[in-house]
Amino acid sequence: MNVQENLKRIKENIQTVCEKMNRPSDDVKIIAVTKYVSTERAQEAIAAGVNNLGENRDEGLLEKQAVINNGAVWHYIGSLQSRKVKNIINEVDYIHSLDRMSLAKEIEKRAKKSIKCFIQVNVSGEDSKQGLSREEVIPFVKALSDFKQIEVVGLMTMAPLTNDETVLRNCFRNLKLLQQEVVSLQLSHAPCIELSMGMSNDYQIAIEEGATMVRIGTALVGKEK
Ligand SMILES: *Cc1c(COP(=O)(O)O)cnc(C)c1O
Repeated sequence: MNVQENLKRIKENIQTVCEKMNRPSDDVKIIAVTKYVSTERAQEAIAAGVNNLGENRDEGLLEKQAVINNGAVWHYIGSLQSRKVKNIINEVDYIHSLDRMSLAKEIEKRAKKSIKCFIQVNVSGEDSKQGLSREEVIPFVKALSDFKQIEVVGLMTMAPLTNDETVLRNCFRNLKLLQQEVVSLQLSHAPCIELSMGMSNDYQIAIEEGATMVRIGTALVGKEK
């Protein structure tokens, strides 16, 4: 387990895909998902040159932030209970899991500055998945126009747990189509230029389909818990 070597390999993979797709490789940001690992391991990622970190629990985020405070960018990536919003909202730069009006209201109430939010979409429609259905996204984004503290920077999804490349690709492609629909609305509170999609097992396909942020845990920092 060597974070530096993992990062090098992931970056090479990203570069290969970007060249194939005619995209500049700095189009794609790597978020190191550190939810399974210690603060020490997260620091290895920082030392290797990552500066975007993703956590899915308030405790994990705050614990790591207490130690890592050298300009890292913090992403909250998991399902977020409304009652936990106050614990993290003024500590993070991005929320990747905005998926309901009650959560938007709590963010609006608690945030001291505008928060960059991704709308989480359940593209595949699986019962087990968080997120809005595709049909709900546009009305939801429109309804956020009065929220001063919410900027809809993009859409986020988690693909189904499968190795079927067609299923994965369709999922990412549909998120991209939806994102373009939001962009075409030209809403000042929802530039929606980012696509947060792709994890350890599927980030290359996600990038082929337009991901601008990939959330990589296991393949980058491993899994200790
Ligand atoms: C855990 C998690 C990841 C990273 O998963 P890996 O398969 O370990 O890369 C990405 N996104 C979300 C929302 C997660 O909860």
